[in-house]
Amino acid sequence: MTPETAARRIEELRSLIRRYDYAYYILAEPEVSDAEYDALFRELQALEAQFPQFITPDSPTQRVGGAPAEGFNKVRHSVPMLSLDNAFTDEEVAEFEQRILALAPDIPQPIEYSAEPKMDGLAISLRYEKGILVQAATRGDGEVGEDVTRNAMTIRAIPLRLLCDTPPQVVEIRGEVFMTRQAFEQLNARQLEKGEKPFANPRNAAAGSLRQLDPRITAERQLSFYAYGWGEVSPGVLVETHIETMALFRQWGAPVNPLMERVLGLKGMTDYFQRMLARRPDLDYDIDGVVYKVNSIAWQEKLGYTARAPRWALARKFPAQEAWTKLLDVIVQVGRTGALTPVAKLAPVRVGGVNVSSATLHNFEEIKRKDIRIGDTVIVRRAGDVIPEVVGPVLSRRPADAKEIIPPKKCPVCGADVIQEPGKAVLRCSGGLYCPAQRQRALEHFVSRKAMDIRGLGPKLIAKLVEKGWVEHPDDFYRLSADQLATLEGMGTKSAHNIINAIEASKNTTLPRFLYALGIPEVGEVTAEQLAQHFGTLEAIMQADEAALEAVEDIGPVVAHNIVTFFRQPVNQKVIQGLLQAGIHWDDIHPSKDATSSASFFAGKTVVLTGTLHTMTRDEAKARLKALGAHVTNSVSRKTDFVIAGEKAGSKLAKAQQLGIPVLNEQQFLEKLGGQTP
Ligand code: NAD
Repeated sequence: MTPETAARRIEELRSLIRRYDYAYYILAEPEVSDAEYDALFRELQALEAQFPQFITPDSPTQRVGGAPAEGFNKVRHSVPMLSLDNAFTDEEVAEFEQRILALAPDIPQPIEYSAEPKMDGLAISLRYEKGILVQAATRGDGEVGEDVTRNAMTIRAIPLRLLCDTPPQVVEIRGEVFMTRQAFEQLNARQLEKGEKPFANPRNAAAGSLRQLDPRITAERQLSFYAYGWGEVSPGVLVETHIETMALFRQWGAPVNPLMERVLGLKGMTDYFQRMLARRPDLDYDIDGVVYKVNSIAWQEKLGYTARAPRWALARKFPAQEAWTKLLDVIVQVGRTGALTPVAKLAPVRVGGVNVSSATLHNFEEIKRKDIRIGDTVIVRRAGDVIPEVVGPVLSRRPADAKEIIPPKKCPVCGADVIQEPGKAVLRCSGGLYCPAQRQRALEHFVSRKAMDIRGLGPKLIAKLVEKGWVEHPDDFYRLSADQLATLEGMGTKSAHNIINAIEASKNTTLPRFLYALGIPEVGEVTAEQLAQHFGTLEAIMQADEAALEAVEDIGPVVAHNIVTFFRQPVNQKVIQGLLQAGIHWDDIHPSKDATSSASFFAGKTVVLTGTLHTMTRDEAKARLKALGAHVTNSVSRKTDFVIAGEKAGSKLAKAQQLGIPVLNEQQFLEKLGGQTP
């Protein structure tokens, strides 16, 4: 690139970045996604590194964030509030360490760092004089911020007075104001109730809530705070290391993230990154990376600062969980029980490290509440291995011809009427098993891993079998022959035999699996297990009336009604007869009062614990589950069999519900343990 073209591009990038900064920091209405912004910023940094003659003091790379907004009193920071340098790869972390070693060759090795989650909120500086909070300020442009003292005073986590007998003359504690996911969800629910616009993410919600001219609004918003540094401090306040100083602040009453750790060298940093990446989906707050800081304060001082950031700290960013892209179309998927799910077709975009071209829109009520339209630029979120979802539209980018999304009146597959149960958001196709989509899903469900577990019968093959007219109901699978399958295009004799063998093997099953496989609406694995334990035999369940069914723990009138209705249908009775005649069998269960044999219930199951249990600690619960042969893991995924949710369960519970994974409350968990309380 010639210096002339570089100079032109540099100017272009600067003016774009200035414009985006204004929209982001001042208007709190970003014009582009963070990933797009970061890419432009890095391009500018790279060009300036290549052509240092073009660096000017007003370049966005030489300074911090945005100017303070109108309406607030301005606060000049006694010590600037800087940003952080970013790294997106391990190599960039290695370069960070190399830079430190080049500047400070005598620093003891391996270098000791403080490693902390990078909270996704906004920075605040809390000034205490003689232990009393006298001023709170946002970062602003790093030199001048906004006076948010009265707002900050409403945040419970921020001490108004430091807990210390001889407080220093001055100490400025700096940290992040953020919103937990739980508080964020509650806030958005309230916003929608009031007919106001929901916030796109907890960061925007935190920024919007702290920077309120009326502190009473801030007070309603449940903000949290973690300290991670300091500004002006009287001599003698700081101890030797960052971590010890933070421990001192914690003693004084300022909360510090308990996940902060001391790590050694490059390996310590990269290990910590991996661990936090794994924990990220389970935390009740958003983090967008981790921050490394040279732990020794003396070495920090020697390394010093650039105009924009300390040289002794680095933010290692996670792949972005959110991206912006165009909503091209909405298609409607019909589920096993007829539930209609609107699915967004998107211009392909990278989110959370994978390419995404479709995402759930949950249901039509949500589309309406969020006012999402075809043609909109939408925010797509993919957190952990949860299915990607459309969070909401970017209204500033709405084209004039954006099209409203109309809920269907007829099932898009079978044309039957669409119904909505009172009080429920989901629309359903009323076509039952006559609807090919419902039939397909029901057959897929029947063979699925937690049901009859027939390997090799994937959705495509099932569709072919249905198309050929060979399979209409689950019992038809058991009438297939290897010769017949081998006539299908692309099917070898060997695969045909393997499938028949898998079908044959599935005949040996358990009553709970069989019940679950039938696909009775709202009878999941846990309910199937409870039914089997309570009644012992299929006949008893089929003959039970609603009152008898409601005697089973957790079965309410709706589920009881679903069960009775299901078994009353002649077609279902015929299918069940067909299945039993095909030779499906299981060992009898001998029901007894608390027969929930914990050993068999948890053995081999993958379980996640979340929230607070009252009768035991998390570790005790874990130990007991392990003793019963369960695998206890930290994050909820499709592989999870159960989630045990105590009080204040947050994102894991939400994820379980989203993935349709059975959830046990504490009472149910105790019963499964055999009713013995410790
Ligand atoms: P940053 O968020 O990348 O890093 C600095 C900030 O991290 C600090 O000010 C502090 O608030 C925070 N932080 C959290 N945990 C911390 C910890 N443990 N220790 C120290 N600091 C911690 O930088 P920034 O300057 O605040 O913002 C830049 C970022 O904002 C960009 O990378 C971009 O993603 C986003 N942005 C987006 C747009 C847009 O238009 N979408 C515009 C401007 C900025």
